[in-house]
Amino acid sequence: DTKETKSDKKKVVAVVGGGLVGALNACFFAKRGFEVHVFESREDIRTAKVVKGRSINLALSHRGRSALKHVGMEEKIVSQGIPMHARMIHTPDGKQSPIPYGKKGQYILSVDRANLNKQLLTEAETYANAKLNFDHKLQDWNAETGTMTFVRGDGSREHVLADLIVGCDGAFSAIRKQFMRRSRFNYSQTYIPHGYMELTMPPRDGDFAMKPGYLHIWPRNTFMMIALPNLDQTFTCTLFMPFDEFDKITTGDQVLDFFEQYFADAIPLIGVEELKSDFFRLPAQAMVSVKCSPYHIGDKCVLMGDAAHAVVPFYGQGMNAGFEDCIVFDEIMSQFNEDLSAVLPEYTRVRVPDDHAIADLAMYNYIEMRAHVNSKWFLFRKYVDNFLHLLMPRTIIPLYTMVTFTRTRYHQAVERWHWQDKVINRGLFLCGTGAVLGGSYLLFKNPPNIDKIDIEKLWNRLLSFRNF
Ligand code: FAD
Repeated sequence: DTKETKSDKKKVVAVVGGGLVGALNACFFAKRGFEVHVFESREDIRTAKVVKGRSINLALSHRGRSALKHVGMEEKIVSQGIPMHARMIHTPDGKQSPIPYGKKGQYILSVDRANLNKQLLTEAETYANAKLNFDHKLQDWNAETGTMTFVRGDGSREHVLADLIVGCDGAFSAIRKQFMRRSRFNYSQTYIPHGYMELTMPPRDGDFAMKPGYLHIWPRNTFMMIALPNLDQTFTCTLFMPFDEFDKITTGDQVLDFFEQYFADAIPLIGVEELKSDFFRLPAQAMVSVKCSPYHIGDKCVLMGDAAHAVVPFYGQGMNAGFEDCIVFDEIMSQFNEDLSAVLPEYTRVRVPDDHAIADLAMYNYIEMRAHVNSKWFLFRKYVDNFLHLLMPRTIIPLYTMVTFTRTRYHQAVERWHWQDKVINRGLFLCGTGAVLGGSYLLFKNPPNIDKIDIEKLWNRLLSFRNF
């Protein structure tokens, strides 16, 4: 079936990159009636035998879902995801304790990356005015004319002209190279010292080996492991660790020793032999954070998704932010009546502060996830924040909630978080000081007669407060 779109305008939009953001963006532009051509360097992943790529599964949350909803894909994707209501923290001695993500009913979804990408490509193809071109690797393009040069698998070249070029070609974007040659283009890229490696935890007796409704985390300060459930009842475990540490492990026995020391409870679940061999299947992968600005050149080209802002994966927001880029661009298109010379600068103005904010937050969570979740103060503050959120749901909103379960602009979420932090810490300080001063005053006024204290009464009093 092909969908007819409302208008007869035929401006040509070239979406370079048919990954998650490119495929979704093609639907957004096609829905508006543009003539859309997607150019993807890989062959069609729906028919390819081997699909190379990054993480096997991803956490989808509100921003990503909102974008999918816009093109009528939310329900389909959500029904194929696994809800995760809380983090499940695994301590070194094997104990597990959940920390909910938000209020009751709030959850993130574990979705299969390849399946999501395939479904989005198929959805884009349902528009009569959208065409997918695989095996088209962008080599170069001309910012003045909008002409792109693609190289095919057989070495041949193709030149294509478009009115608008949308660079969705990922963290190492070829489209971005033209931006780098221009004056007043800001760019920074940071590789973190950690790499990641994925390991599979198979089903046990026909069921998940661990509770599936959680994102499992083994925080171990300098490194950590996480595990997300898959529909086939496996878990994909991702080990994040400095490359130096990965380099030290060279034999199967060393893998086992390492896991025995830090992730002992996961060994029988992954399997001793599987662990020893899986660990060496692929080398650890690097993680990069990319920030740049502006996101556009004139009315010709705009960057979105990882091409504009690759973030480290510790807030589970890279794809979500990329999907939200599509909505923000679409909103601005409506606001400016599709006048590209006004839309593109406005998109940069609106979106850069937000994408930079999520890149910074992801870097912050890089430390929070592996170290802070072990700290008593951090856990105490999480409970205080959640408790205050229950009492004053509009005044105090935990940062994670704003980022994951709302479309509050990322930079505003950060500002609000700093303000809330100040207020709550001051409140706690005042309560603490008040309690100490008040207690001292009472003790001074009524010095206790130790002999008269009824220990049993005191104990019962304490017990009655236990469930507060
Ligand atoms: P990509 O997915 O990189 O797609 C780019 C596409 O462009 C690819 O198909 C590529 O083949 C194509 N391409 C590249 N160069 C060219 C060229 N020259 N010509 C033509 N085509 C080209 N995000 C979340 O929201 N939640 C998560 O839980 C999460 N977990 C993650 C875990 C890990 C380990 C990693 C590494 C990332 C994670 N992310 C997560 C981030 C997420 O993967 C990215 O933000 C997302 O894939 C970005 O999509 P994209 O389409 O912009 O880029």
